[in-house]
Amino acid sequence: MTAKKIPIKVEDDVVVSIEYTLRLEDGDVIDSSEGREPLAYIQGKGQIVRGLERELYGMNVGDEKAVTVAPQEGYGQYDDERLQRVPRDSFPSDMELEEGLNVRMRDVSSGQLLDAYIEEVEDEAVTLDFNHPLAGETLFFDVKVVSLREASSDELDHGHAHDGNHGH
Ligand code: ZN
Repeated sequence: MTAKKIPIKVEDDVVVSIEYTLRLEDGDVIDSSEGREPLAYIQGKGQIVRGLERELYGMNVGDEKAVTVAPQEGYGQYDDERLQRVPRDSFPSDMELEEGLNVRMRDVSSGQLLDAYIEEVEDEAVTLDFNHPLAGETLFFDVKVVSLREASSDELDHGHAHDGNHGH
């Protein structure tokens, strides 16, 4: 029987658990693991923001780091082309339409479901914003690596960690 190798640093195919806080440029905390289980993910699978994942390589358990992620390595640049004006009657007449509301639209040509936010409501038309809500934002992470372990073969097949509230 061979002893299981315990990873000592963040590298590909390692299940990494991190505590983190995410702030925007204005200092507002918009996401945090505080009061929750640490976030567990498999390094190298693109499960977390690209610009953050890259900075975590080589970190050890207990290490902390402040990482600044530019929009192009976070949720993308804000793109005006992704604003779309649609007729008011594309929505059910009894649907309450208000700015900021998240709606799911089916793309007519591809059949794909797309998430959008209502940007503006007018009498005849509704402007939808298909940008990610964090598009164009520089992201400021404070992260701490709290544990490292090898991914199981199941986890590698599925492409995600089975820690925490992932249900199977
Ligand atoms: Zn799974």
